[in-house]
Amino acid sequence: MRKQIAAANWKMNLTAQQGEQLLNDILSAEHTLNVNRIAVFAVPFPYLAMAQQQLAGWEHMYVSAQNCYSKKSGAYTGEVSVEMLQSLGIKYVVLGHSERREYFNESNQFLADKLNICLEYNIAPIFCCGEPLEIREAGSQNDFVGRQLKESLYHLSAEQLKNVIIAYEPIWAIGTGKTASSEQAQEMHAFIRAALAAQYGNDVAEEITILYGGSVKAGNAAELFSQPDVDGGLVGGASLVAAEFNAIIDALK
Ligand code: PEP
Repeated sequence: MRKQIAAANWKMNLTAQQGEQLLNDILSAEHTLNVNRIAVFAVPFPYLAMAQQQLAGWEHMYVSAQNCYSKKSGAYTGEVSVEMLQSLGIKYVVLGHSERREYFNESNQFLADKLNICLEYNIAPIFCCGEPLEIREAGSQNDFVGRQLKESLYHLSAEQLKNVIIAYEPIWAIGTGKTASSEQAQEMHAFIRAALAAQYGNDVAEEITILYGGSVKAGNAAELFSQPDVDGGLVGGASLVAAEFNAIIDALK
């Protein structure tokens, strides 16, 4: 079975105290997790160490960074390296979120460099892709997402790709309250898996976890996650509310 993941993306929200409280509220609920059914918390950089400490001793719950830089170390003021993340025991990093692509001009090529360094340091990238509204309206979403995959991922070997998690996040559904229907999500996830199969073969493609992101909440998670190629979600707004995220974790297959 493929790994099913409920991934929280706190973005630039919450004080340290609020973050600590939120994690405590999530930890105090009972969740049935195992190696193939996990929760991941992408917290702001200053809270990584705190979150690592809070989750220490909890199985199948992991801390993630929301970004990293593409270089090993050096004179890059304000940036965070994967070596730093690794030294804290961080196992995941979100890459290529549409907000980073839009506000910080992150290109497919730049993301390819970040993927390389994450994989070199054994940190699993949660690689985000997804189309803007005008592309969806023009019916070109497959070409658009296909190009993101090709330019950022296809230089990887099959062994490397197996450590990548893909998050399909249609930009028109992020933070808008507008969720892709479960059919739209399944259609794109199946397209992504078929594209990976064409490049790497069926067996590899079947192993890759593909998350859906875009206004996932307690009320729609089970329906989205029930789709055969949807392996969980990357969740923004609803991950800031313990009851919502608890229900989302419990909606995993
Ligand atoms: C996200 O930040 O990745 C996201 C999908 O946000 P939201 O759930 O708020 O749409």
